[in-house]
Amino acid sequence: MHLFDRIAGDGHEEVVFCHDGASGLRAIIAVHSTQLGPALGGVRFRSYANEDDALEDVLALSRAMTYKAAVAGLDLGGGKAVILGDPALIKTEALLRAYARHVERLGGSYLTAEDVGTTQADMDLMRQETRYVTGTSRSLGGSGDPSAATALGVLQAMLALATHLWGSPDLRGRRVVVSGVGKVGLALARHLVDEGAVVVASDVDEAVVARATSALGLASVPPEQAHAAECDIFSPCALGGVITPERISELRCEAIVGAANNQLAEPQCARLLVEAGITFVPDYVANAGGIINIAQELVSHRRELASTRVRTIFDTTMAVLDEAKTEGASPTNVADRMAERRLAGYGRSGRAGAARATVTGG
Ligand code: NAD
Repeated sequence: MHLFDRIAGDGHEEVVFCHDGASGLRAIIAVHSTQLGPALGGVRFRSYANEDDALEDVLALSRAMTYKAAVAGLDLGGGKAVILGDPALIKTEALLRAYARHVERLGGSYLTAEDVGTTQADMDLMRQETRYVTGTSRSLGGSGDPSAATALGVLQAMLALATHLWGSPDLRGRRVVVSGVGKVGLALARHLVDEGAVVVASDVDEAVVARATSALGLASVPPEQAHAAECDIFSPCALGGVITPERISELRCEAIVGAANNQLAEPQCARLLVEAGITFVPDYVANAGGIINIAQELVSHRRELASTRVRTIFDTTMAVLDEAKTEGASPTNVADRMAERRLAGYGRSGRAGAARATVTGG
């Protein structure tokens, strides 16, 4: 792989490979853009088949964070980190603190946060080494786990979708398959049950499915069949890449709205979904609740302001879907353009890497 060509290809400013022999840390931090502000993005802790897969994942995820923050109207850039390895086997305090020291060294151009495989408790440990960690416990000055805000935001996107497709935000009786009932998926399922939707849960972890079905009285579907289950909305809330060209022909939903990042395995899937008559709400529009919550943490700790701002995802989703319909374009295309317009219009062009965060919490 030609590393610099790959990194420059979609405009990354900085990619840092982190190593700590004593704790076994192997991590990659990717700063895609600091044009609108410090690059915010979670740290994902998981096993990858190989290092190239880890690099591809962090590059794609950090780029998506730039677009997410831009469309949400936040003064934040996009970044992401991955720690390579199975957290169940190698996660230790020493390793998390070694990672946090690398984050500190970046001087605030990258703000880390929770993601798949990391928790609020991990953020609290990192806080001992770096100011540049968000989503720590309230007692440490943070806003806590962002998952509830993310779930609230995905619900807003679904309400907007319902208004756009069916003429009213009423989700009563609508069948929604939630694939991945972890932190966000379970909170989303709760909201949907409250809205009167018929929720079907799915997860690769049987204990997690059992928790969701018994807590909320949900039906379930095996994970390999979730995308093909008949429903109004398919909601991917596990990992990315679930919508492939092959799977599009198997989908039996009217729409896709979920929390997972980078749901489309290939860019052409956006067009294929339009051709299949399936409305796709771009993931980074629907799942921005978590970073909106964190952005609020950076300026003040008034929770009610954060949830008011998360509810703006309804309007953003409506704008994207309406414009896509008018133009006959894919919602992904429209959302990308919105992000690029904001980056072009308000960005600090020519100051790549210059943005630095001031984190005062804790
Ligand atoms: P999580 O780890 O708590 O939950 C993910 C769940 O998906 C787990 O229960 C896991 O067993 C399940 N899963 C894994 N592979 C699966 C598969 N192939 N099919 C079905 N289930 C599978 O993670 P989370 O925090 O709930 O995040 C879920 C997704 O949302 C991730 O893609 C994450 O990047 C994205 N996201 C999360 C937040 C947040 O605030 N937590 C914000 C934005 C985006």
